[in-house]
Amino acid sequence: MVKFDVIVAGAGPGGAEAARAAARAGLRTLLAEEHPTVGIPSHCTGKLSHHAFDEFDIPRSLALNAVSAAVFHSPGGVAVRVRRAAVDSYVVDRVTFDRWLVDRAASSGAEVRTGMRIAAARRSGGGMVVTAHHRGRTFEAWCRLIIDAEGAAPRLPPSLGLSLPRRYALGLQYQMRGVGGMEADTPEVFFGRTVAPGFFAWLMPLGGDRARVGLCVDAAVTRRAPVRFLDRLIATHPGVAPRLANAVVEGKVAGRIPLVGPRGPVGADGMIIVGDAAGQVKATSGGGIYYAMIAGRIAGEVAPRVVGGDRAAIGEYTRRWRKWFGLEVAFTAFGRRAINHLSDAELDTVLRMIAESPPLRESVERAGDTQFQSRLFLPLLRGLGAAGLRRPALIPLVGKALLHGMLTQV
Ligand SMILES: Cc1cc2nc3c(=O)[nH]c(=O)nc-3n(C[C@H](O)[C@H](O)[C@H](O)COP(=O)(O)OP(=O)(O)OC[C@H]3O[C@@H](n4cnc5c(N)ncnc54)[C@H](O)[C@@H]3O)c2cc1C
Repeated sequence: MVKFDVIVAGAGPGGAEAARAAARAGLRTLLAEEHPTVGIPSHCTGKLSHHAFDEFDIPRSLALNAVSAAVFHSPGGVAVRVRRAAVDSYVVDRVTFDRWLVDRAASSGAEVRTGMRIAAARRSGGGMVVTAHHRGRTFEAWCRLIIDAEGAAPRLPPSLGLSLPRRYALGLQYQMRGVGGMEADTPEVFFGRTVAPGFFAWLMPLGGDRARVGLCVDAAVTRRAPVRFLDRLIATHPGVAPRLANAVVEGKVAGRIPLVGPRGPVGADGMIIVGDAAGQVKATSGGGIYYAMIAGRIAGEVAPRVVGGDRAAIGEYTRRWRKWFGLEVAFTAFGRRAINHLSDAELDTVLRMIAESPPLRESVERAGDTQFQSRLFLPLLRGLGAAGLRRPALIPLVGKALLHGMLTQV
């Protein structure tokens, strides 16, 4: 039986960074990707905060576009425009991006196998035995630690009694050419219960007349498939349809996003779970690339201790990822719950209030950061409180959203 120190299941951003960190620490590391080509099929818009580029030394040449503003459209057509002084995020092509990360992991010493699916795992001999399918062959391999980076549809955690993410948004996106009326650095977001129940739709400019047009719906809120909503958005939404009248679809991607993470821990003796598989996602925006990379890196960094027999190392992983971005995962879940409980008319009221209040918009622009959304909470609350003095109807509405955010399920 082939032996490794670490086997990483899944070569997305989480798996690639985990494998890189483990290999750099001198561990014999296998990075297995079930698809024949890394990054394909893609399932993502590819918006990634500038923090990720700085933190992980990612060359800006991988970015297709830079984003420094946003427009939020309420269900009734109120538009709130915010602009930051500097670039907030970049948009990448996930296929190129994932390949770049995996090549870097390979340069650090990880053994990369594509077309290899890790199908099962069990404890044995002080470590883990995995069953893998590789190009028509089934074989077993042994390792001390599995890093599970399977993405939004993990299959391995239950084999060690670990639970899976509990609630998902389903997404669909068309890449389109011939899109009119866009500002190159300004993505647009569209809310509404009939537009995208439980989530939102987006128009992400790629430069020139190209854009990614997509949406997610919360699978617990509607049984209708995302395609029904996306085709209707493109054909009939007054803020979208006229701009897409001459546009053609160049490609489609679909995927799912965990809105609520697993019920229990994301690590046990022999396995650490990272990224989407661990529910490490912002439930407000669905972004998870950066957190997957951070969690992957932390998992790879604690791997030498796990391999050395230190059972406390899994707890160290949990402490470190929670310290890094646990607050953001919790805050964005709170934000998603609060937004979901506002009716379309109530969302109109809140967004109109922000649109009509320059100081409130300025505080959003100052404190807003895609990656650290919790920093927006107090400025937004203060601003809405001040606005509520002028418009008392706002106070119970904001109070209701806060209460739902704190007390209810997503
Ligand atoms: C429509 C949509 C748009 C999105 N847009 C954004 C965005 O703009 N910005 C952002 O930050 N996030 C976005 N996300 C979320 C983002 O795609 C994920 O958070 C991110 O990819 C998580 O990385 P990961 O490494 O955990 O998983 P993944 O990127 O999903 O990688 C998992 C990999 O594991 C492989 N795999 C699975 N099981 C096995 C197995 N048993 N053996 C071997 N290989 C296996 C899969 O083939 C896959 O390649 C979006 C998601 C969707 C659905």
